[in-house]
Amino acid sequence: MQLSNRLSNIKGGGSDGWDLFVRARGMIAQGIEVTELTIGEHDIRTDPIILDALHRAALAGNTGYTEFSGMSALREQVAGRVRERTGTKTTPENVLIVPGGQSALFASHYAALDEGDTGLFIDPYYATYPGTIRSVGAVPRAIKARSVNQFQPEADLIAQAASESGGRAKSLLINSPNNPTGVIYTRETLENIAGVCQDHDLWLISDEVYDTQIWQGAHLSPRSLTGMADRTMVVGSMSKSHAMTGSRIGWIIGPEDKIDQIGDLTMNTTYGVCGYIQEAALFALQQGPAFEAKIAEPFRRRRDLVMRQIEGQSVVRAIPADGAMYVMLDIRATGLSGDAFADLLLDTHHVAVMPGESFGAAAAGHVRVALTVDDARLDVAIGQLLTLAAQQAK
Ligand code: PMP
Repeated sequence: MQLSNRLSNIKGGGSDGWDLFVRARGMIAQGIEVTELTIGEHDIRTDPIILDALHRAALAGNTGYTEFSGMSALREQVAGRVRERTGTKTTPENVLIVPGGQSALFASHYAALDEGDTGLFIDPYYATYPGTIRSVGAVPRAIKARSVNQFQPEADLIAQAASESGGRAKSLLINSPNNPTGVIYTRETLENIAGVCQDHDLWLISDEVYDTQIWQGAHLSPRSLTGMADRTMVVGSMSKSHAMTGSRIGWIIGPEDKIDQIGDLTMNTTYGVCGYIQEAALFALQQGPAFEAKIAEPFRRRRDLVMRQIEGQSVVRAIPADGAMYVMLDIRATGLSGDAFADLLLDTHHVAVMPGESFGAAAAGHVRVALTVDDARLDVAIGQLLTLAAQQAK
């Protein structure tokens, strides 16, 4: 029996970029101590006060089917948070609760794209983006952002890609604060992007899952720009903001009528999100910005630590990390590719970083460091990385 072309095509034939990660995990399984600076997962677990709320909700009987668009109280809480953070009118009807940011990425592309349409996205990109676009039967098209421009997307390149698609491009996916680069898009970048979306009648899918991790400058949600609320779907998640990666809870913010219609998809796929997880999420959001700042704080500290180490040498260049839990390092002065450098670092020092190439061609010759181990260990690992880079550059 054959599986559908749509499913078979999700992987797109290329490497999925996780080879180094798999190799590092293999070494760990053999008992080798590896410093893992690979995936974006906190080194803390979900706070016990959130788990208590989850437990209480389950024991109180919230274990049955839920409203498939999300609990009204949670939708209201998320809407209030969006209003406070962005100043944009947002009601519970603008909010659809889904099982995690990844689910929101899928549902928003499913909603925006027909089979055969083109979904635009920016390279470097979070690993699942092209597969998500393919999984709805559409064609992903990457638009390169350049290291020399600190990876800010360039509107004219986006406009060119939209024009070249001959009317098939229907959406543009952006991500700020950005994984993997740590860059926050400037107001100018976002205004230019908004202009392209209006000119080419594109949905803007704005992945803002790192919006509580801001180290420099300010995060601007493009939904708040003039004329954009009707054509923007914002992807949100509690994974990064509340260290709730395993709880699988997030949302889409969009126009009321469209959110209502996307409910048809959730009804026929997930049938809603587990009730006690939603109660835990509501409790977590009620803890307010101070709680979120506490979760983000270690990454700010470690980001500063890495940036200071980089300042002390001249072989490796850091892309100034404005936000998110990563620092992108330009290692081209070593003469090695990101893949080769990451392999060598793993073999010689047992430090695992992600090769830039695994996030797209635009990040070739770079490596991404996740700030997800304690400060002392990170300090040693970055020291080793810089020593290796200096040796290779000779
Ligand atoms: N978007 C980006 C940019 C991410 O880095 C991630 C997770 N690493 C996600 C979306 C998905 O997160 P989740 O499904 O856990 O909410």
